[in-house]
Amino acid sequence: MAIELPPPPLQRGRLSHAAYTDSEVEREAKRLRDAIKQPFRWSLETCRSIAPLTLEINQLKQEKDVFLIAHSYQTPDITYGVADSVADSYALSKEARDAPQRTILFSSVRFMAETAKIVSPHKTVLHPSPDAGCSLSDAITAQDVRDIRTKYPGLPVVCYINTSAEVKAECDVCVTSSNYLRICERLPGNGIIFVPDKFMGKHLQNHLAGKKDVIIFDGECEVHAAFTGEKIRTWRKRASEAGMNLQVLSHPECDTDVLEESDFVGSSEILMEEALRLASIGKKDLMLITECGTTDRVLAESEVDLNLVGACVMCRHMKTTQLEDILQSLRDPRPDQIINLEPSVIERAGHCLDQMFSLAE
Ligand code: SF4
Repeated sequence: MAIELPPPPLQRGRLSHAAYTDSEVEREAKRLRDAIKQPFRWSLETCRSIAPLTLEINQLKQEKDVFLIAHSYQTPDITYGVADSVADSYALSKEARDAPQRTILFSSVRFMAETAKIVSPHKTVLHPSPDAGCSLSDAITAQDVRDIRTKYPGLPVVCYINTSAEVKAECDVCVTSSNYLRICERLPGNGIIFVPDKFMGKHLQNHLAGKKDVIIFDGECEVHAAFTGEKIRTWRKRASEAGMNLQVLSHPECDTDVLEESDFVGSSEILMEEALRLASIGKKDLMLITECGTTDRVLAESEVDLNLVGACVMCRHMKTTQLEDILQSLRDPRPDQIINLEPSVIERAGHCLDQMFSLAE
């Protein structure tokens, strides 16, 4: 029983690359293959084809003093080939803020690059794929937040970090998948409005039952919404018949029935840490209920062979960015690849994020 992983991204051949010697390309190709640790999907031959791109990107980062951060859901050629830091949204927004470089390149979806700009307004933030959206962040507008506030006056509005800068600017406090339960618990009063993820909203309603009323919105992550409790039960049964003791680890953007079937729930980083911990104590039969990027990272960072079961789901928005987009935006960014936000939006959205940083610590 083996996990079904998507093929590596195809090179689109849009850019010619700088010239490197055969030995430089070979050395880089071996570095990529050894870092990614998936020799069937990312063979030495595949790594040779992308090595000139990663070599030039890494060279340009040095020359232009750029800090390149990538979300965990980016493809392994990005996370292990060119990123200076890889993590989830919360950790990356702090790293963007604290990095000494004046230019941040954020390889991810649009709202994350906007978040980097909000916390580092004096830095240049490059976003190679302006069209890379997110089904959650696209589910809600600033006007929606104003309308819901009018409908439920006096309640604080809590937004998930997967929202645009304009939406954050209308909200009182931002949260991530690793701190939403704790922060919502700490807010004063006996009610909150939570936007836009309806599934995390439902978990909050259960978690705060009897303490706070939670008004929820109707957004969802199209990736995590694809998993069901029924699918987990089916895989558990098959695994058990094959003599396995399956551990199911899920992301909180999944529906309640998925979380009820899971052994562990956590954000991408926490899921990865738990998977590595379980593997290190001999529990190697794992099912990761999340985006394929987390699976790629677990495979690359595990010291032991794993038996990953089931099928991850790929986010089409996250996978929009390819090495060629990064290289082009480093060489000569187009205006739409440079994040620009209204100063008043930066100020109000910054307050929403500052609230999160102070309540989460
Ligand atoms: S995985 Fe879901 S929440 Fe993350 S960017 Fe894709 S659609 Fe948005």
